[in-house]
Amino acid sequence: MDIVIGIDIGGTTVRVGAITSEGELLAWRKAPIEAARGPQAGLEKISGLIQEVLQDDDVAITTKPVSLLGVGIGCTGPVDPVRGVINNPYTLPTWENVPIWAWLEDRFSVPVTLENDADTAALGEYWIGAGRGVKKLYAITVGTGIGTALIVDGRIYRGLDGAHPEGGHQVIDPSGPSCYCGQNGCWEILASGTAITQMGREMVSSLSEPIKESSLEGIQDVSKEFADSPLLKMNQDQIDTRKIAELAHQGDDLASKIMQKAVDYFCLGLANIIVLFTPDMIVFSGGVMENVDLYMPAVEETIRKLDGIVPAERIQIRQAQLGSYAGLYGAAYTILKKVSS
Ligand SMILES: [Zn+2]
Repeated sequence: MDIVIGIDIGGTTVRVGAITSEGELLAWRKAPIEAARGPQAGLEKISGLIQEVLQDDDVAITTKPVSLLGVGIGCTGPVDPVRGVINNPYTLPTWENVPIWAWLEDRFSVPVTLENDADTAALGEYWIGAGRGVKKLYAITVGTGIGTALIVDGRIYRGLDGAHPEGGHQVIDPSGPSCYCGQNGCWEILASGTAITQMGREMVSSLSEPIKESSLEGIQDVSKEFADSPLLKMNQDQIDTRKIAELAHQGDDLASKIMQKAVDYFCLGLANIIVLFTPDMIVFSGGVMENVDLYMPAVEETIRKLDGIVPAERIQIRQAQLGSYAGLYGAAYTILKKVSS
């Protein structure tokens, strides 16, 4: 049986999997990418993970003898899918102009592909996940950042010279915080998991000030409404998106207010995507969207408002099915398409 290797490189973790041409994940490994140690150390680590996966008992038993067709990579962007070069000092510090494609081709003597990780995650959902066979599929991943991808007839929609359009950097509020891309108030800087954590810490800090500095009157005036919130008793580093969402689920007013702000920003970006692309399906994925129930009332309201100007109510909204494996499947799909064409 023929197999391919799928690789998913994120800002903190790299995953490597052996996948059959029918889409069965036989074995996989993950490890911290430790980008700051430099790209050479990262490439050696990836090479080691590929060797480990290929020698895994499950691969050996199922596919004897192992026939490796190629290696597909999805990587946090920006990447150059035409030359096979990663150029992402933003979320992979020190990874500037890293020719990963040539390096792996040389090491394993098989064809290699390189795509943005939002694109590979979307392709994974198209191939064997929530968006199986959907003509126009728009995927939104909300985690540390916000990644977007558009799949049309099973192919990645590309811009100039193969560029990956960055939906996470559409400006939602020009008076908002500055983003590493050079703009202010990007979607990612207002509605990602990082943004929710940041908003939570800022709100708690602004509500806590009067309690520390002045009298009981301060508490009553400024934060009476939220005085019972467990968030106000936490240290800044204990406050993160997971905790805020958990408390929002329990009905805590302050946590709900923080989440609602993030949900409102999310829906502004979503509305832009709906009016610009009107896809057949929108798939939500990423750690933050595990709390999709907190988002759905506002998402449904957004869709209701837009229906008419575009057929928004006919757009299917789905939760991703493949979780953190989507990128592995999608990366495998890209190399399978390449070797079969
Ligand atoms: Zn930006």
